[in-house]
Amino acid sequence: MMTPMTPLENWIKRKIGLQETDRLSRQALSHYQLRKLQETFAYARSHSPFYRTLLAPLPYQPLQDLDDLSSLPFTTADDLCDQSLQFLCVSQSDVARVVTLQTWEARPKSLYFTDEDLELTIDFFHHGMSGIVQAGQRVLILMPGERPGSVGDLLIRALGRMDVQGIVHGLVQDPRRTVQEILEGRVDCLVGIPVQVLSLARHGDGARVPRGLIKSVLLSSDYVPQAIVDEVAQVWRCPVFEHYGMTEMGLGGGVQCSAHKGYHLREADLLFEIIDPRTGQPVPDGETGEVVFTTLTRKAMPLLRYRTGDLARFIPEPCPCGTLLKRLDRIQGRLTGAVVFDKGHQLSIPDLDDVVFSVPGILDYQAEVYGKEGRAHLRLKVHVEAGASKEVGDAVSEALGRARFLKKAVAEGSLVLDTMAFGGLDAGTAKRKIVDLRREE
Ligand SMILES: [Zn+2]
Repeated sequence: MMTPMTPLENWIKRKIGLQETDRLSRQALSHYQLRKLQETFAYARSHSPFYRTLLAPLPYQPLQDLDDLSSLPFTTADDLCDQSLQFLCVSQSDVARVVTLQTWEARPKSLYFTDEDLELTIDFFHHGMSGIVQAGQRVLILMPGERPGSVGDLLIRALGRMDVQGIVHGLVQDPRRTVQEILEGRVDCLVGIPVQVLSLARHGDGARVPRGLIKSVLLSSDYVPQAIVDEVAQVWRCPVFEHYGMTEMGLGGGVQCSAHKGYHLREADLLFEIIDPRTGQPVPDGETGEVVFTTLTRKAMPLLRYRTGDLARFIPEPCPCGTLLKRLDRIQGRLTGAVVFDKGHQLSIPDLDDVVFSVPGILDYQAEVYGKEGRAHLRLKVHVEAGASKEVGDAVSEALGRARFLKKAVAEGSLVLDTMAFGGLDAGTAKRKIVDLRREE
């Protein structure tokens, strides 16, 4: 069966000014990206106090070629903390939406958007979703959407443009009630955070949703565990699409096509690079490194070479859908997320996710590492459906004991496992990470 081409290709073709009859070429896209980069650097330097200082030592127009980008300075998440206003390029009265992110280090960072910026996101959601839903369908959004400019609100506005009804449900607090809403509302598509959607699929009521009612699912996050994708697709027998994005990107970054392998990126609005996190140099195509992006069209707060901390690679092979847009592979982890034990053993959330979520009955979990009598203990608090606690807890311990990356550390005695099971769901949206308590001990 032919894989339909990602709708993003035609959308991007129009955005960069090509005619309907023209074929998009990498050359035309690069040409557009260089022009937008030049505009963005000039704009940021003349409007943002932060970039005025950062770029001061450079020639006024430092970019003659896309390759020149690799010699320009980065922006880090740390730069945004405490001094977000220094990035602002418009007057505060032109800001339509502020998103303040609580970081793990407890220093908040704020992102600013104008109405024009929000429109770019709506336009991306509109075209991205057009490969996932059809006119006349209904989408239940398991994310916040009360406030104007919030992700749910933007998605509803995007869906409205193709005659699809979006319904904001908010985060799942009680899976039974959410399933009831899916049934009563004849919902065709779900959009949510991976663990939240998993909690519905694994709930007894969720499994009773008639086959064919849910026709597609979109999981949106910075990192989507494969075990969750597989389970959701299997329970509801429907395609599960993944979206990669973060607030800094203007919420949207890229979305899968029907080939379900890699994210096609918003290349008219964002320019992505993969760099070696140690040297800062670009890695050869196909190799894993840190994801870095530059905004090409943002007004309130353009970001130049922003280091995401996410690890991934470009997939060099062409996509079966036939597009010439780039494909970013699944995020493999966070640069700062790994916890290190004796003898260099490392552990990160993606390692744990694939093992823990493959155990039936798991809704969510938290992981922490603490030291006791000179040894590291990994404590997992797993959330399971009420009534199944003991067995599921044991199954997780067993699966972890078998996992390749833990087996050796446990056998050598440098790590002790400790699993505790709780009934019910603890609805949170914060990025999951392994909490390392050893620093405070
Ligand atoms: Zn594709």
